[in-house]
Amino acid sequence: MPWREDRGWYKIWISEIMLQQTRVQQVVPYFLRFIQAFPDVKKLARARQEKVLQVWEGLGYYSRARNLHLAARMIVTGFQGELPRDDGLLSRLPGFGPYTTHAVLSIAFNQPYAVVDGNVLRIASRLFKIRNDLRSSLTRKKIQKIMDMIIDRKSPGLFNEAMMELGALICLPLYPLCIQCPLQELCAAFQSHTVAKYPYKSKPVPKPSITNITFLLQNRKKFLIVKRPQRGLLAGLWEFPSYSLPLPSGGKDQKWEPLLKDRGIKAHLIRRLPAITHSYTHFNLLLIPYHLQTEQRKIKFEEYDTGKWVLWSALKKLPMHRVMRKLIAISKTESVPVSKRKIKNS
Ligand code: SF4
Repeated sequence: MPWREDRGWYKIWISEIMLQQTRVQQVVPYFLRFIQAFPDVKKLARARQEKVLQVWEGLGYYSRARNLHLAARMIVTGFQGELPRDDGLLSRLPGFGPYTTHAVLSIAFNQPYAVVDGNVLRIASRLFKIRNDLRSSLTRKKIQKIMDMIIDRKSPGLFNEAMMELGALICLPLYPLCIQCPLQELCAAFQSHTVAKYPYKSKPVPKPSITNITFLLQNRKKFLIVKRPQRGLLAGLWEFPSYSLPLPSGGKDQKWEPLLKDRGIKAHLIRRLPAITHSYTHFNLLLIPYHLQTEQRKIKFEEYDTGKWVLWSALKKLPMHRVMRKLIAISKTESVPVSKRKIKNS
């Protein structure tokens, strides 16, 4: 892995943040691109947030990028560009939860902190025949305690990396490769022929569904895009103006006219685009896009910090989330036939 070429804390930190909720193979090209754009913490600290989000684009979970950027600024201004090696200080920086703090301290500075991610939880539940629910925080605490006790104090970083790698390559979720496993003799589940019983994980709570109406508002050759607020989901990213409809989701034939009429916007429909579905961590999204023509230039959306009219070709230079990229891609090729309708709100 490119982040293993040297043991510098900067690359280890960036890789550990990227590897949260993202597979190793997926991370590699993003990691290389990020390091090329921001080769050290000072360059990252000096960058504009919009540039950081743009380089991060495609990896999702954008709060990770914003926290990286904020933490880089704090490291440069508060710690002379050096990462604090103290557990308490480090965990006060944005984005340094217990997992990241322990991973960076053990791998970069050889401090004896065990990291417990999904892989380690699974391995531990099999090694020690732990039948408690892995979704429970109590189980996680129990496993953290055990791992803190058994970690190799001479090489904690190597120990942690070995555990993560064992989980990624050998002790797999569905079909663990026990025959190749170096821990066979120590593994209580393997020794008792009960591997299939571990781990135990209760069923996830079903996610709610949300429907969004999205407008590609066109004025001559330009399109209106708006910037999301600096806090909350997908903060600081650009998108086409969108409205969440009340739960439960309202199906694909939502009325778009009243939403614009209420805001004093006159527009007519050019075409309806195919609906897009996307699954976020806490909800499923159904996005219904409309391509509309308007003569108005001054349009204010209360829900957004700022907006501007841009040429279609300029969209690729702005940080946008994955659903908007999907929308841009389908709008080049597809549309749903509709009868021409006009809003009569003049
Ligand atoms: Fe996992 Fe099998 Fe190894 Fe036990 S023996 S740790 S179940 S791969």
